[in-house]
Amino acid sequence: MCRFFFILTQNLNMSIPHFILTLLLLGNLSFHYYSQISAISIIYFCLFYKFICIDREYFLIYNSIIDNINVNVNCFFKSVCRHRRCPKTKKAGVIFLMKSGTVFDIKEFAVHDGPGVRQTVFFKGCPLRCQWCHNPEGLSSKPQLMFSHNSCTGCGKCRLACPLTGPKDIPAPVYPSDCTACGACVEACPLGLRRITGKKMTSKELVNAIRENGDYYAALEGGVTFSGGEPLMQGEFLLEVLEQIPDLHTAIETSAYAPANLFRAVTDRLSFVMMDVKLMDPALHRRYTGVDNRMILENLTRLCRGKKEFVVRIPLIPGVNNTEENLEQTAAFLSGSACLLRVELLPYHQTAGAKYRMAGMEYRPEFDTSARLQIPQHIFEKYKIRSVVL
Ligand code: SF4
Ligand code: SF4
Repeated sequence: MCRFFFILTQNLNMSIPHFILTLLLLGNLSFHYYSQISAISIIYFCLFYKFICIDREYFLIYNSIIDNINVNVNCFFKSVCRHRRCPKTKKAGVIFLMKSGTVFDIKEFAVHDGPGVRQTVFFKGCPLRCQWCHNPEGLSSKPQLMFSHNSCTGCGKCRLACPLTGPKDIPAPVYPSDCTACGACVEACPLGLRRITGKKMTSKELVNAIRENGDYYAALEGGVTFSGGEPLMQGEFLLEVLEQIPDLHTAIETSAYAPANLFRAVTDRLSFVMMDVKLMDPALHRRYTGVDNRMILENLTRLCRGKKEFVVRIPLIPGVNNTEENLEQTAAFLSGSACLLRVELLPYHQTAGAKYRMAGMEYRPEFDTSARLQIPQHIFEKYKIRSVVL
């Protein structure tokens, strides 16, 4: 602490009021070391002399101060800090926690999202556009409006409240294509048919929500699962959350469409991995999911060669990936992997498109959604891979 004040007087031209405040602070520190006033005084000084920068989402100590204090902050707080530039001043420093992410749901008592009974956190945003996706509200990374059309009386109150709507005299529900998710129409609807999905949360807020029932889920041999959307799309945020819950059983449900270093960093910190594998053919993968599968298969290779227990999940889509050829290639790719517990087959459900209209989107898959689904499960038996149909 003496060194801290030495730096203060050396580096700063203190005005008299601040010098007096320094003395008060010193007195305060000696007699009430842990008092809140001391903490507030220190924060005041650090902010005033630009030692630190505080925002709702981050806390940053400038490198100039870290170098002066001669403490290796990166070693000291290894698990929670990263070197970054301050988003406000652009000066280099070490940033701490409080990164925010967007979450669109937290489901309690999930029994199909990993071992035991679990809490599942749904991250908003996904780089893939799978034609069978049943969570359209998880695609965009931004908060968005969901509107339940069925009970709408057409009273037009939402139209009147919306700042983007054109003629105010047309009594019809509104969902403009440039909706900003401002929420004005949510308040206006007398039937509660509208809601905004997607909430910004700091890592601390999400950790608090997870910890609320953390002991309960641990007693049920479960934990928390991160799903989406694609949780790796908010990889830095996820890492910060994971760093704060090393004592809980953690799992991920992922497409593995992420750079290798991020995939490795996240999976190293997790207890369990559930990875989706859709199509082995790159051209078909691009056609039905919108992205190439090279990065996905590279990450799958890492899992197959690694020591982390994992499950592969295959959404079975009629005429798209339930072919003998695709499943044979998938089984051959996975065979011999010591840590693969099983393959879970998830048959396509005809209700997959139900939520698209609510999200202001159209559901127009290129495959026959009513076709009878064949499940050639015997292929996995041939490769001595345990498989289950969920
Ligand atoms: S949430 Fe969208 S539709 Fe509703 S009032 Fe705001 S801009 Fe208009
Ligand atoms: S306010 Fe509600 S009930 Fe009235 S038109 Fe809008 S969505 Fe329908």
